[in-house]
Amino acid sequence: MDCIFCKIINKEIPSRTIYEDEYVKVFLDLSPVTNGHMLIVPKKHIVVIDEIDNDLMSHILDVEKKMYKLLKEKLNAIGLTIINNNDYGQEVKHLHIHLIPRYNNDGVRTNRENTLLTDLDEIYNILK
Ligand code: 5GP
Ligand code: ZN
Repeated sequence: MDCIFCKIINKEIPSRTIYEDEYVKVFLDLSPVTNGHMLIVPKKHIVVIDEIDNDLMSHILDVEKKMYKLLKEKLNAIGLTIINNNDYGQEVKHLHIHLIPRYNNDGVRTNRENTLLTDLDEIYNILK
């Protein structure tokens, strides 16, 4: 299969692997947002969250906690932002979780200036 993350998992392409077990591989993102930005990638080729097994997701949560501990201890991270792009905005079509360690004044910000936003009550009435 022509999937870059499957190739990394199969060691056809090198990666800076931080952690690996039977179910997941964790390696440094090639274009980090902050120092220590890593990706948790399930070894099974799935694309989006609809396909993930709850046991696997629970395991990923354990790995997230383990990696956060490591980032605090080794890189003095003071926070962790976790992102998982599904479909839109997903460059690599093999499910992955971004772990972005946070530091004082790291320049990372979530966009709160989007003028296209619909009224909060209108959205609430659609979703509830
Ligand atoms: P997405 O936009 O799909 O959520 O994120 C894909 C991420 O994979 C990007 O942050 C990108 O830098 C990273 N990436 C793409 N190709 C490679 C690669 O070959 N090796 C590594 N380590 N990261 C990659
Ligand atoms: Zn894959």
